[in-house]
Amino acid sequence: MQITRNPTRSVRIGSIAIGAEHPVTVQSMTATHTQNIDATVEQVNALHAAGADVVRVAVDNTKDAAALAEIRQQTKANLSVDLQENYRLAELVAPHVDKIRYNPGHLYHHEREKPWQEKVRYLAQVAADNDCAMRVGVNCGSVDPAVKDRYAHDDSISPMLDSAWEHCRALDELGFTRYCVSLKDSDPQKVIEVNKRFAAARPDVPLHLGVTEAGLPPDGIIKTRIAFEQLLSRGIGDTIRVSLTVSNPRKPEEIEAGRRILADIAAGRVRSVVDFGLNTLNIISCPSCSRVENEAFIDLAEQVKEMTRYASAHAITIAVMGCRVNGPGETDDADLGLWCGPTVVNLKRRSETVGQFPYDAILPRLKAELDALIAARA
Ligand code: SF4
Repeated sequence: MQITRNPTRSVRIGSIAIGAEHPVTVQSMTATHTQNIDATVEQVNALHAAGADVVRVAVDNTKDAAALAEIRQQTKANLSVDLQENYRLAELVAPHVDKIRYNPGHLYHHEREKPWQEKVRYLAQVAADNDCAMRVGVNCGSVDPAVKDRYAHDDSISPMLDSAWEHCRALDELGFTRYCVSLKDSDPQKVIEVNKRFAAARPDVPLHLGVTEAGLPPDGIIKTRIAFEQLLSRGIGDTIRVSLTVSNPRKPEEIEAGRRILADIAAGRVRSVVDFGLNTLNIISCPSCSRVENEAFIDLAEQVKEMTRYASAHAITIAVMGCRVNGPGETDDADLGLWCGPTVVNLKRRSETVGQFPYDAILPRLKAELDALIAARA
């Protein structure tokens, strides 16, 4: 299949480059605890061996940052750091990585009195000083509340675009152009729409594609394939991640799935024409990362999928998330949401909390909520 790629600029990330004429690259993220250096190095190297062009590692505190310095010594993989709320950790980790990912929706958490533009200036300076690229990573579940407030509640696309565009403008004005953007949602149709609209307005900016919380394979791969086929076959997208809810030893499956999708698109084997999940039960679950608070999360996601099979004909979305960092926000839009703490699982009905339940008591509670929802819609 002859694909004319969007004329994006070239952005170097360590030993590779994305955008322009470069092949579309494949990324993944570790799900080990970053401070467990041996386990994290093993996973980084397993992903690298499977063909990962970039491996992202989450850093939430100074101990994670110190661990990352050790991890850097033990791998040749191109490393990206995932900053969440504490953007100031950037200066500690930038010397050890090739790319910094920040989420515009998380910048307001620290030093609230400081304008976000100053925080972006700081991040751009740290990146430039340490030869790092950047990713402006916009996520449907954590858009900056100030931007979200500008739009109607049912419009989730415009706030994501607005947030991405204003951060691009800020970086451009600072003269920092070594960045890419990602706009992720758990709904492949929204991923398609938001990325198409972004690419039409900013065809120069490389795009990192992903369907967040795509969930367990094979459904997670199918959802991701739908979005990637529609975008990549139009020349939109420069680097990809297939986010799957799988146990640690299976993480390289994300790379294998990504490479298979790219090969199929290049060969013209594009098959997605369906509106996946719009008229059926849709289970979304995060791919897990170092922030998972109880390893039982992966098993729980599998059990939720099994237990809810009886409801497969109903257009209901159930979200299963692994931690308190993104779990509370990213379950808000699901009909029913679970986010996992160390000893209990939080059950939600959209943004309303139903309660906290032990891991061995959550499935019957979820079933009761699901039955009530089905009955209410009958
Ligand atoms: Fe990691 Fe939490 Fe996001 Fe899951 S919800 S991928 S554990 S940050």
